Amino acid sequence: MEKLEMLYEGKAKRVYKTNKPDIFHIVYKDDATAFNGVKKGTILDKGAVNNQMSAIIFEMLETKGVPTHFVELLNEREMLVKAVEILPIEVIVRNIAAGSLAKRLGLDEGTVMNETVLEFCYKNDDLGDPMINDYHVAAMKLATAEQVETIKKYAFMINKELVTYFEARNIKLVDFKIEFGVYKGEVILADEISPDTCRLWDAETDKKLDKDRFRRDLGDVEDAYQEVLSRLK
Ligand code: UDP
Repeated sequence: MEKLEMLYEGKAKRVYKTNKPDIFHIVYKDDATAFNGVKKGTILDKGAVNNQMSAIIFEMLETKGVPTHFVELLNEREMLVKAVEILPIEVIVRNIAAGSLAKRLGLDEGTVMNETVLEFCYKNDDLGDPMINDYHVAAMKLATAEQVETIKKYAFMINKELVTYFEARNIKLVDFKIEFGVYKGEVILADEISPDTCRLWDAETDKKLDKDRFRRDLGDVEDAYQEVLSRLK
């Protein structure tokens, strides 16, 4: 497959066209941003970790019946994916209170939620990804009612599979963000699943093994990313 012109450059990835119109070529970068782009930096080899981790997880989820955009791992930093149209909704799933949820509801970080919490945010950097609900999604035509039902079904399936998968690797899945796209009329999981988009705590020590180490200047950022990947391999 030939890599053609760049279509889009995001904060963490570059997306290129290929000679097949339904396939994109993704290159994962080491650039890190937080707080809606206010904090910027580099996490050495983050791109390699996020690319390989996403590939491993997408392949696992496919075996559990979750369709994903993943096509093929090319090398440490690059993969081929299905050319989806991303739905402008960030889907957040939470098992344990942390980050903005802990702040918003006055919960101690680490409080186990009695039920899994699902949130939607409107994917719009200029607005700072505001939280929305099903009514906003419908009123703004961000997705159809049927697409929303599919997204919810997959989000809970993904959470169940990921919790079990990480537990077996001595990691607590605190929360994560996923994005879906439409490919040939079907909703499928897209974007990435990585320490950038998940909160992952060591099961014994609660040591943070994710982007919070960068956001909060906790040090050992690169080591934490490598540690997660090594536990998955
Ligand atoms: N998250 C993300 N991208 C965003 C916002 C959140 O990947 O633009 C992830 C974040 O890493 C965490 C989960 O979604 O795993 C919940 O994040 P939260 O709403 O607590 O926001 P944060 O505290 O990260 O600003």
